Amino acid sequence: AKDTGKNNCQFYTREMNATIERKLHLLEGLRNAVDDGQFQLVYQPKVDLRSGHIFGVEALVRWAHPEYGLLGPDRFIPLAEESGMIFALGEWVLQTACRQNQLWQEAGLPPLRISVNVSPRQFEEQRLVQRVAQALEESGLAPEWLELEVTEGVIMRDLQQAVAKMGELRAMGISLSIDDFGTGYSSLSALKSFPISTLKIDKSFVRDLGSNAGDEAIASSIIGLAHQLRLRVIAEGVETEEQRAFLRHNGCDEMQGYLFSRPLAPEQLRQLLLRQMPA
Ligand code: C2E
Ligand code: CA
Ligand code: CA
Ligand code: CA
Repeated sequence: AKDTGKNNCQFYTREMNATIERKLHLLEGLRNAVDDGQFQLVYQPKVDLRSGHIFGVEALVRWAHPEYGLLGPDRFIPLAEESGMIFALGEWVLQTACRQNQLWQEAGLPPLRISVNVSPRQFEEQRLVQRVAQALEESGLAPEWLELEVTEGVIMRDLQQAVAKMGELRAMGISLSIDDFGTGYSSLSALKSFPISTLKIDKSFVRDLGSNAGDEAIASSIIGLAHQLRLRVIAEGVETEEQRAFLRHNGCDEMQGYLFSRPLAPEQLRQLLLRQMPA
């Protein structure tokens, strides 16, 4: 039994070293990945829950890593945050998303609102407002077609400063939404001072709709709260008819999830939009 313990321990250490090495390797690669064009954006439709009409898309970043293949953001966003690479990456995401949205509009597609995720360090950066203004100017996109998604944690770090910054962004004409709502600790009273237009129900509460009474209570409370505050409410991670039925029955406005569509490459999204256009 003692031997086994020792072996397990050695195995564990080797595993850990491999993990750390991989992490360092990713970190190193991150430095040039923006310049080398290794990032891509995919776009997941957001639809009106009643009509199924696509009114917007969320831009989600992917890293086409030369050795590891296509990596999802959970593998590298935390590293980018830690290392400060998030500023260059975030700027690239903003510019690319705005440019892409403007291209779709110029191609005659029905106008969409594009949502871009902003992580905590990005939101706190002094230059964020300036970066947003620049992305709009360079792309020619009108501000009403851009939304930023921020998480509760971002806002609660420094409430007053967050409210002030949100005010500046709102004044530019863009929209703001609270992402992953319900997973953080924002006080409900703080919520009413945020110049936001939408609350997004986190997918952890959506998953068991139809079977878990607790999650159902949370989801319907968030919907009620949002409407009391005159906000729109969107559910993410909607995968089943059952979930959609619950959300619809409880007055949720919008949804996003595999049930309607996975995140799509630009050309795939264009095709989908063309199919939705009246002839
Ligand atoms: P998020 O903002 O909560 O994005 C939603 C995540 O749920 C996305 O994962 C999306 O692909 C996934 N998803 C969508 N529909 C479904 C569904 O029906 N079922 C399930 N199980 N999942 C669904 P993804 O693309 O892996 O992104 C993960 C997180 O990484 C995002 O969570 C966001 O916080 C962050 N992220 C993504 N792109 C960016 C970016 O450009 N900048 C920053 N700062 N963060 C980003
Ligand atoms: Ca998001
Ligand atoms: Ca989310
Ligand atoms: Ca999330």
